[in-house]
Amino acid sequence: MAAPTDEVNRYFPHSMAVVTGNERGLFIDGEQTEAASGEVRELIEPATGEPLGRAAMAGEADVDRAVAAARAALDGPWGRTPPNERARLLQALADAIAANRGELAEIESRNVGKAISSVKAEIGGAVENFRFFASVVGSIAGRSNPVGGSLLTYSLKEPVGVCAQIVPWNYPLLMATWKLSPALAAGCSVVLKPDPQTPLSVLRIAELATEVGFPAGAINIVPGDGPSTGSYLVKHPGVDKVAFTGSTKTGGEIMRLCSDPIKRVTLELGGKSPNLVFADADLDDAIPSSVWSIYYAAGQSCEARSRVLVEASIYDDFVSRFAGSVGNLKVGDPLDPETQIGSLISTAHRDRVHGYVERGREEGAEVVAGGAPGDGKGAFYMPTVLAGVRNDMVVAQEEIFGPVVAAIPFEDEADAIRIANDVRYGLFATVWTGDPARGHRVARAIKAGMVGINTPYTAFPGIPFGGYKQSGFGRELSIDTLDLYLETKGVLLSTGAKPSNPFRL
Ligand code: NAD
Repeated sequence: MAAPTDEVNRYFPHSMAVVTGNERGLFIDGEQTEAASGEVRELIEPATGEPLGRAAMAGEADVDRAVAAARAALDGPWGRTPPNERARLLQALADAIAANRGELAEIESRNVGKAISSVKAEIGGAVENFRFFASVVGSIAGRSNPVGGSLLTYSLKEPVGVCAQIVPWNYPLLMATWKLSPALAAGCSVVLKPDPQTPLSVLRIAELATEVGFPAGAINIVPGDGPSTGSYLVKHPGVDKVAFTGSTKTGGEIMRLCSDPIKRVTLELGGKSPNLVFADADLDDAIPSSVWSIYYAAGQSCEARSRVLVEASIYDDFVSRFAGSVGNLKVGDPLDPETQIGSLISTAHRDRVHGYVERGREEGAEVVAGGAPGDGKGAFYMPTVLAGVRNDMVVAQEEIFGPVVAAIPFEDEADAIRIANDVRYGLFATVWTGDPARGHRVARAIKAGMVGINTPYTAFPGIPFGGYKQSGFGRELSIDTLDLYLETKGVLLSTGAKPSNPFRL
């Protein structure tokens, strides 16, 4: 793997080769620690197939220890940290992430195989998440309701308690920061389980958090397998709330596990998001933006616009121009700043993606770009366009989670809305039209948690992010997210004046 170029170093002056040969422990109670079982797993660099480093894997005893540390932090120094100090710590962590962005970018790019140009944007997003939630800490407040008579009543907002947070491999750093920032802003403590393939960046963030002053136990990181360590964490009686990002299938299992003992749960799940292009759209903007919307992060995004719905009158022209620009995308070394598409997470996942493309061919779709793995040992897959797709085909209904788009024609606005909604997911939709009124009509008719009109972009601190239908429930990134980490307690106080007994009223 080539070293970062001068260009990367110009933007990331702290960049250094930190990953290779690195061995990482779990992060519990403010420090790196070995797993009780001693298990250490080798991590593979997806773009090269070579060993990248080694990471400890948590088991049940480690989860017990992490939950106990999180509880002790709540009962101790972290629980006593006032809101203004929590805000200061969140800002300090944002500063530390920004100061260490070169190191973090290289870790993430090499661990996930993702283009460093994408990772740079994600680290910027992570910094802004912490700044946003630092800025809204002061909004956490109860209220006093006049009920008349002798009663003084008021409500208190209190942290939910110990939160289990589980994140996937596609955005290990960004998803962890989406989860950590509101929980910490609300005053909760966290036990976060990253995917066992991609634990490196969040372990580093936990270290930075300790360096800037977060008390021990406020943040604990326990990489480990989902069905064993993850489910043990979810079921743990010491956990008060579970926040999960991952597949719809696992989300269903998490919800079930949260029923005994009962605990609060929020789920950010999969998607099969539509990108609707009407004939009156500005195609010079819509085409490159639609290309970005699917191939960003090599299509391994929950909100990837993996179905391009195009008005029939411009379908052939759109597909040919879209496929033409796909041929110009630069696929390759994730650490090259010019690379637009890095590798997929693993060769096993690449083969799964290819299986879907083959399935599309069998169902009658035409492969007009890509359709094959990339060269070399890495888990590369060429950006792929499937044309002539019907919405009832498997490639239009199932989340492929790779650089594969299904191009589907529609007749008119009603047909476009019907097709857009005819999937089990409802995470995101983008609408391209020259008619603002149509943009608003379609946005209201689509059953999705988020809709973009004439812009491909999706996630900004302050804008609620989350799904309808099988894409889950709960919102991230917004001031509403705080409520998911807060309990509301009503307090009634008799001021002594009579009558105060309701049975005598
Ligand atoms: P996954 O569901 O297999 O795994 C996600 C996480 O859950 C991992 O940390 C895994 O170890 C853990 N896990 C697996 N089984 C578990 C169990 N039984 N109990 C507890 N934890 C368990 O998903 P994935 O393949 O790693 O991630 C890709 C999926 O995530 C896609 O479906 C994608 O759309 C979704 N995703 C959604 C969002 C969103 O915000 N809506 C964001 C990113 C990714």
